[in-house]
Amino acid sequence: MSGRPASHLFYQGRGRKPVLEQARGVYMWDVDGKRYLDGSSGAMVCNIGHGNDRVLAAMRAQMDKATFGYRLHFETEASERLATKTAGLMPPGLNRVFFVSGGSEAVESALKLARQYALAVGQAQRWKVISRFPSYHGATLGALAVTGYAPMTAPFDPMMRPMPKIPAPRAYLDGLDPEDPATGRHYADMLETKIMEEGPETVLAFIVEPVGGASTGALVPPAGYLQRVREICDRHGVLMITDEVMTGAGRTGAFLATDHWGVPPDIIVLSKGYAAGYVPLGAMVAHERLVEPVLDSGGFIHGYTYAGNPLACAAGLAVLDEIEREGLIGNAAAMGERLRARLDGLMQKYPFIGDVRGKGLLLAFEFVSDRASMAPLPPEAKAFDRFVQIAYEQGLIVYARRTRGGYSGDHILVCPPMIVTDAHLDEITEGLDRSLAQFADELAT
Ligand code: PMP
Repeated sequence: MSGRPASHLFYQGRGRKPVLEQARGVYMWDVDGKRYLDGSSGAMVCNIGHGNDRVLAAMRAQMDKATFGYRLHFETEASERLATKTAGLMPPGLNRVFFVSGGSEAVESALKLARQYALAVGQAQRWKVISRFPSYHGATLGALAVTGYAPMTAPFDPMMRPMPKIPAPRAYLDGLDPEDPATGRHYADMLETKIMEEGPETVLAFIVEPVGGASTGALVPPAGYLQRVREICDRHGVLMITDEVMTGAGRTGAFLATDHWGVPPDIIVLSKGYAAGYVPLGAMVAHERLVEPVLDSGGFIHGYTYAGNPLACAAGLAVLDEIEREGLIGNAAAMGERLRARLDGLMQKYPFIGDVRGKGLLLAFEFVSDRASMAPLPPEAKAFDRFVQIAYEQGLIVYARRTRGGYSGDHILVCPPMIVTDAHLDEITEGLDRSLAQFADELAT
């Protein structure tokens, strides 16, 4: 690709990506002038689209005042206002907001607050955090310890305390009816079994992505699952932490994914869409009943230098205002239904799509070798790499995830910004169709 400087950068591998020049609305352009439709909002981040003028203006206004004030030295109007606004969007009692600079930091903060709460209320024996496999909760060692995906965690196993895991629901693979509350109970009861095995007095928390993100590829929990999880947590004094890094801030058609089921957790973790890619920002929002004892017993032993800086908070506030002003959560719900219908149409056409799923604009389809067995495509198909590459060439960005060891095949997340219109959906569907047709030809040869 022309115009590329010699690079000192490295991320995951040696492959180089196009160089980004500009991004506006749902579109991105590389330095060669090629246009891409951002069909995955980055990694489900840029929920309100790129280059929003009102957000940029709010950031400029804050830059003119102050870009940094160390949180142990100053409060700022931006952080106070964002905290108030955020608390107003949460279930009752979840009104204590701790700012961070990303999803992993938010998860670490949740784990550490939960532990400090247990210490503050005289339950020092509670330290185990049960999580699920597959799951993804972040890159830092604490978040990795509760992540259920061996290829990412195994190299670091000796450096982490192992944490108990239960399977995430996979009704579609187990032949169970996701609409039947008995299915939800079946999977949730695995949590209770695990709590009993571990000894309830040792279990601190359960952390769950309410709708699976990259881990299960937009898998929606079966009816009754989250309600039953809540009951089980209450029964055993276990805290319920919801990781809404990917699902939060409206992506599923409600501000929080748990709002769909009316299940209030004890701690909520937000990032990604919360500042929609304008700045690094996240938040850990906790119930006041957890925070008060921690503050009373000497304070929360935790914090990040950049956390809650005024520029990030001003941007976050402007993003939340924009979501509200433009009715983007309603649009995510409406456009999500329409896009889902289009993906269902593509599934009719391409037999190697085994499942279409999701909620709001958190949607995915899964590649299989045959629908009866739901077996993943063979590794030689390189579905993960190839499909993304083909879509790129078609000017469409999608987010792909590899098979999670029998828990879902290679899946493609289609999660455009919440500002999409019908015309954008046409463009996305046509881009997917052309890409799938080319992929089908490659599979056949
Ligand atoms: N939790 C979930 C559910 C995520 O999807 C991610 C990021 N993909 C994280 C946590 C970690 O967030 P970050 O990459 O911002 O640290």
